[in-house]
Amino acid sequence: MSSTTSATPAGATHGTTTVVTNIATLVTNDPSLGDGSPLGLIHDAAVVIDGDRVAWTGESSKAPATDNRVDAGGRAVIPGFVDSHSHLVFAGDRTEEFNARMSGRAYSAGGIRTTVAATRAATDAELEATLTRYLAEALRQGTTTLETKSGYGLTVEDESRALRIAAAHTDEVTYLGAHIVPPDHAEDPAAYVALVTGEMLDACAPYARWIDVFCEKGAFDGDQARAILTAGRARGLHPRVHANQLTYGPGVQLAVELDAASADHCTHLTDQDVDALANSSTVATLLPGAEFSTRAEWPDARRLLDAGVTVALSTDCNPGSSFTSSVPFCIALAVRDMRMTPDEALWSATAGGARALRRDDVGRLSPGAYADLAVLDAPSHVHLAYRPGVPLVSEVWRRGRRAA
Ligand SMILES: [Zn+2]
Repeated sequence: MSSTTSATPAGATHGTTTVVTNIATLVTNDPSLGDGSPLGLIHDAAVVIDGDRVAWTGESSKAPATDNRVDAGGRAVIPGFVDSHSHLVFAGDRTEEFNARMSGRAYSAGGIRTTVAATRAATDAELEATLTRYLAEALRQGTTTLETKSGYGLTVEDESRALRIAAAHTDEVTYLGAHIVPPDHAEDPAAYVALVTGEMLDACAPYARWIDVFCEKGAFDGDQARAILTAGRARGLHPRVHANQLTYGPGVQLAVELDAASADHCTHLTDQDVDALANSSTVATLLPGAEFSTRAEWPDARRLLDAGVTVALSTDCNPGSSFTSSVPFCIALAVRDMRMTPDEALWSATAGGARALRRDDVGRLSPGAYADLAVLDAPSHVHLAYRPGVPLVSEVWRRGRRAA
């Protein structure tokens, strides 16, 4: 043994330390830091990364010594986006459906069947190639945590393989066997619910963290949704709900009743629905890409925020109703058309997404969090809405390493 080998400090495992300095505006999402706002904004800031975690954040002039130094060049740094709602295990193409809809045809849940047929016919390798393509696309746009779902298989074999493929690429995997009643069960929806809560659940639970239901007219009603979510919970899966997207309905109340992490869409809400969300730990996840792509009425984000509801913003990336992986695009829509402030939209797309996944190790840049961050080619996060459609994400770091 050489006596000249330097000793590793005792205690927690540490990696190489790196300071990212000369940050014009840093969003920490820690209100105890910086300006004391919910975004915890620090100007002329630095972030110290130790291994895969954030070790320190503060003013550049006060940064501790590190092994490496990276100059952000006066750009803004934000937490990597936490996209808590996507459907990326799919095959097939629905360009023509979008084209027809933009020519005046109304959206109906039935369009999902097109993707189900193509997904069942695809090989594992084809599904995995599509998933990884869109994960990489999302990463380049600043998304460092991404949830995705099954829901285009709707058989025991096809749902479980979708989740197995998803679980190889993300920790946030959701079993959505209850996306629609498939055509082969159209005459007997009760038998399909029995399958989703029985044999299919058994096959899928090992690969998933969450269980979800599309609670909507034409999909699953409140009683069916309760039965499905309750069965999932008994198998250790946590509920989340596609709720109140196309019409008023029981989805939001059910999500709150079952302490779901998130009620997603929330486009058609009664005052009672808003009150229930405000008095719960269920996040309202808004998905403006869906309203954009179906030319539908926007969810009323202002009403939810003013009532004290925790709001997340996510893409709903899927081939039918919202084929965007761009969180910056959703932020721009939320600010322009849903009356969120630029600060609120940024928070909802980062810390809000983390809340919707019940995570506290992502969605913030303060000590202990994963070093997941996006560097913007702009002096502040406000530019994400101020310069819509412009690819401002110039660098992405995930788990302490440059990833895009
Ligand atoms: Zn969805």
